[in-house]
Amino acid sequence: MSRLMGLYAQHLGAEQRSPYASRGEYEAAVARAAELLERADYVVAGIGSGMSSACGYDHYHPIRDFEEGGRLERFRRAHGFETLMDGYYHLYASNEERWGFIAAYVDYVESAPVGRPYRQLAGLLAKKEHFVLTTNVDGQVRRAFAPGRTWLFQGDLAFLQCSQPCCDELWPADGFVRRALDAMGEGHVSAPSELLPRCPRCGWLMAPWVRDETFLEGSLWQEQRKRYEAFVGEALASGGCVLFLELGVGGMTPGVIELPFWDMTAHNDNAFYLRVNLGKIDEPRQLGERSLTVCADIADVTDGMCALLGVREEER
Ligand SMILES: [Zn+2]
Repeated sequence: MSRLMGLYAQHLGAEQRSPYASRGEYEAAVARAAELLERADYVVAGIGSGMSSACGYDHYHPIRDFEEGGRLERFRRAHGFETLMDGYYHLYASNEERWGFIAAYVDYVESAPVGRPYRQLAGLLAKKEHFVLTTNVDGQVRRAFAPGRTWLFQGDLAFLQCSQPCCDELWPADGFVRRALDAMGEGHVSAPSELLPRCPRCGWLMAPWVRDETFLEGSLWQEQRKRYEAFVGEALASGGCVLFLELGVGGMTPGVIELPFWDMTAHNDNAFYLRVNLGKIDEPRQLGERSLTVCADIADVTDGMCALLGVREEER
């Protein structure tokens, strides 16, 4: 898995030249994107890791926090980690070491402020009928948007499930995280054995509520799925303008956001597909005139759209 993650990181980091010949050409693309958003009656947003990268939250590439003096330095010293994914997918020698890193990782994402592009998007969508589907597990979407309007497809690091799972329950991770980090202090990388989170029903170790082969698609997940499907169904049947807005979706799970968005746009004349992505230039050809790709940093694009539409970022 870590090898796959490495390849994915290379893919994300592949150097791309801007497809725009001039600043004016880029600004025209952002203006067109703003116009599409303004015109939409319904917005279905699909958010991938590029959106969090645009906030400076990079889970796939080396980050300064692992360097000398950084809050995660001890994990680099102990295990050689340079990226958050190195730590998450590492095969640890003990559960104590694994949960020591998980505690630090959850604390890292939960203590990060909601990024400006997320708050700007929340502002841009505030007066629209909208729904947000994400493959990110870093909690940014959960914290930026109303709970009834999100589908956390791959789960959320801030929650724990039974690792079997024996039951349809989720537990907030914050209690474990606080106790483990307090006990570990500044220097340790292992959580104390007695603090490892265990399922109160069966006694098995818990697991982060993040997609793997035992991921719990339980009642919360199913409820989010149903709301999403109902929203999309109603939007497409309404005859109003439906904008499928894809932000920072990489190549790992095309079947969750990208391909369904293409499919629904292709089959509905009232739908339009707008993609903002630093690493993708080509338009999906089957969508003809009903697609636009803005190939740029999402943070610049949300800045530009907010300025053009006179929208302020939401407080979170
Ligand atoms: Zn259990």
